Amino acid sequence: MIFAGNTQRPEPAPQYPKAVSDKNIRTGNTGGARAPSAGRVEYEEAGREYPHGPSLVTIESMYSAQLLDHFQNPRNTGDLPDADSVVELENPVCGDVIRLGLRLHDGRIAEIRFKAKGCVPSMACASALTELVQGKNVEDARKLRSDDLVTLVGTLPQASSHAVQLALDALRAALGNLKTTGQSS
Ligand SMILES: [Zn+2]
Repeated sequence: MIFAGNTQRPEPAPQYPKAVSDKNIRTGNTGGARAPSAGRVEYEEAGREYPHGPSLVTIESMYSAQLLDHFQNPRNTGDLPDADSVVELENPVCGDVIRLGLRLHDGRIAEIRFKAKGCVPSMACASALTELVQGKNVEDARKLRSDDLVTLVGTLPQASSHAVQLALDALRAALGNLKTTGQSS
């Protein structure tokens, strides 16, 4: 399709089936029958209709747009050098790790940053958490519940509730670990 109007035979074409054949087999493409020799673009578009298509399609259908946005553009990442509290929590079941650092000012969470490794929802929930508590006073932050976080990331698959829990646990641990208890305002 991209070569429309081009009278020359495109050079990369003969190599194409070799280059992607492995990938297609692994993603469950039963191949053969519909595999066209026509052109790269047409072939990839056709692949999207297969039930066992590329994993990206699966991720997008599993998670909400808000969650994917937090995963792809995480907020408040990194270390916080002058933090009043830093904690690192691991979910022993799946190995997700969250490190959370926060800094208080006048009893409020002036700054909060996280680092995380783990599954998509864990990263997204950590990011959403930082957005949720930034600027809140310590007391309000302690009252946060999982529903508040879920509201921010959209609906979660049942299997991902551990991600919400880990983020909240990290927050509570960080608040419980404060060097200076924030003066209530
Ligand atoms: Zn996980």
